[in-house]
Amino acid sequence: MHYDRWDAMGAGLRVERVDEPSGVLIRLHGVVDENTDLSFFRALHGSVQLHLRGLHRINSYGVRSWMAAISAMAPDVELELVECPVPMVDQMNQLRGFLGRARVRSFLGPYICERCGTEDEIVIRVDDCRRNGVRLPDDVTCPRCRKRMEPDVVESLYLRFVREMA
Ligand SMILES: [Zn+2]
Repeated sequence: MHYDRWDAMGAGLRVERVDEPSGVLIRLHGVVDENTDLSFFRALHGSVQLHLRGLHRINSYGVRSWMAAISAMAPDVELELVECPVPMVDQMNQLRGFLGRARVRSFLGPYICERCGTEDEIVIRVDDCRRNGVRLPDDVTCPRCRKRMEPDVVESLYLRFVREMA
């Protein structure tokens, strides 16, 4: 997939930080692995929104440093995760404690069109997902042929973190 290009380039992780009156906004692009420096977590204070859509891969070393970074955050940090991609959702579902104190606001749902093969990812708000009975939306239409698309994940497994989040 298009993610492979990033890995081949050894692009590592790019961290974009914007300070706004309402809080800090951080965007991550790239991969989290044994070479990733997550020390920026320690400099955070107050309300922080972490946009994760651009995070393409996290390996087992990355998971370990991610969890260490989250638990080392200053006590006043309120961390919200936005647009969590599939690799992050997979970790949330497998690893209790992966989220630490972070709250998930929204995540990506992968869909596929069984007619023309088009793949797409839509943003799903956790609140909406709960209101919908912890289901994935069933009204996603193919951007190319307009057929209704199917989730490209096992819904009950993929949404485990939503059910288990307090
Ligand atoms: Zn289609």
